[in-house]
Amino acid sequence: MHRATPINITMPDWNQPLSDLPDHTDVLVVGSGPAGSAAARVLAQCKRSVVLIDAQAFPRDKTCGDGLVPDTHAALRRLGVIDEVLARARPAQAARCVAPNGRHVDVAGELAVLPRRELDALLCHAAVQAGAQHVAPARFVAPLRKDCGRVTGALLEHGGQQRTIQASWLVLASGAGTTPLSAAELCQRKSPSCMAIRGYVRHADPGMAAEVGGLRFVWHPRLRDGYGWIFEGPDHTYNLGTGVLVGQIDEDLGKAPRNLRRMFEDFLSVDPVAARLVKEGEMVGELKGAPLRCDLEGAIWAAPGVLVAGDAVGATYSFSGEGIGKAMETGIAAADALVAHRGDDTAIEAAYRASLQALKPRFEMYRQAASFNSHPWLLNVMVWRARHSPRILAKLSDILNERRMPGSLLTWRGVRSMLLP
Ligand SMILES: Cc1cc2nc3c(=O)[nH]c(=O)nc-3n(C[C@H](O)[C@H](O)[C@H](O)COP(=O)(O)OP(=O)(O)OC[C@H]3O[C@@H](n4cnc5c(N)ncnc54)[C@H](O)[C@@H]3O)c2cc1C
Repeated sequence: MHRATPINITMPDWNQPLSDLPDHTDVLVVGSGPAGSAAARVLAQCKRSVVLIDAQAFPRDKTCGDGLVPDTHAALRRLGVIDEVLARARPAQAARCVAPNGRHVDVAGELAVLPRRELDALLCHAAVQAGAQHVAPARFVAPLRKDCGRVTGALLEHGGQQRTIQASWLVLASGAGTTPLSAAELCQRKSPSCMAIRGYVRHADPGMAAEVGGLRFVWHPRLRDGYGWIFEGPDHTYNLGTGVLVGQIDEDLGKAPRNLRRMFEDFLSVDPVAARLVKEGEMVGELKGAPLRCDLEGAIWAAPGVLVAGDAVGATYSFSGEGIGKAMETGIAAADALVAHRGDDTAIEAAYRASLQALKPRFEMYRQAASFNSHPWLLNVMVWRARHSPRILAKLSDILNERRMPGSLLTWRGVRSMLLP
């Protein structure tokens, strides 16, 4: 079994200054989140020269629910870092789905919770361990191009200093912000798909963990078009928050149509467990909000010399807002395409597009499932059925664990296949 060398993530000795940037690399990866670090690790393991850059020095915080769902476990396994991550994470056995009527069902899955500051530092370190050079802080400003438009490198900046680097390929894994995507002329939609807000609360009573029930998801008409969550993390610290589908928003204002803080208050008013946690516990840090990009939409997936991965390519599920696993999967797919078809631009782009296309039905299923967020009463029916039918519960568990894809959820047959044993 793989055992990674333990690391001390408070010692950011793997950040190199911009002045250490080499003139050339095989692959420049922009963004050291899960997508970028996964791509960089696989490329470096395959003996490609890789420079991984991030606008922030690591370790850094990332606003997230910190929930590691089954696809994340699978990607961590592929990267050979699962043991190290799980040694630090808080494991959970089930996703507790709480319907508007207060009844719940526990859907079994391979689950855990680890704050992103730690997870992302472990992933970035794993890329460096494999041979990638991590240059941070360094901000991607714009791509360099040949006359024909093919990307050949990038202009980077930090603290008034600018440097260029030539790269055979660029992997853009810069997350949900659209500035880098726009600079690369790959942005098709500026508004995010969802917005979410989260905070941390410490509560040492072991009874609280039992009440939360692992990863707790709460649906309610007051949280319409979204849901609330409480995820129990390490050290008696809980991550709780709310997220909402954005739909069409005013691109000039760039604001979510819903006040997220008010939605968070609504969450506390409809879920007694969240209310107790916040009332009795100690709030750690501030509430923080962030955008998400979902459904593999909103960006051009690939262009000559550049592949787009993670949140930048919309690799987050819209129903659940989970995207860490698929960010890593798309980063790994980009690396695989670059390794398998080295020197053949057309084949690299085609292979990467095919990998994303293969994921598309699953994203479509989650997009359809988002209608549950808009009609929370449907969850009353779903939870009631699952509580009374072990076979339906097993179906839900298979979907969570990505062992099964239901048919279309928008058809009567699809809904019936979910609700009938
Ligand atoms: C509130 C909230 C809760 C969530 N909860 C969960 C959850 O529980 N489970 C889950 O699976 N997913 C969750 N998600 C989604 C998850 O956070 C994302 O899917 C995931 O972070 C995507 O990873 P990434 O590597 O694509 O991007 P990121 O993790 O955002 O990493 C992108 C990196 O690029 C860097 N960058 C940006 N611009 C530049 C630039 N110009 N130059 C250089 N570097 C740059 C950033 O500093 C950052 O480090 C949540 C999201 C939010 C907002």
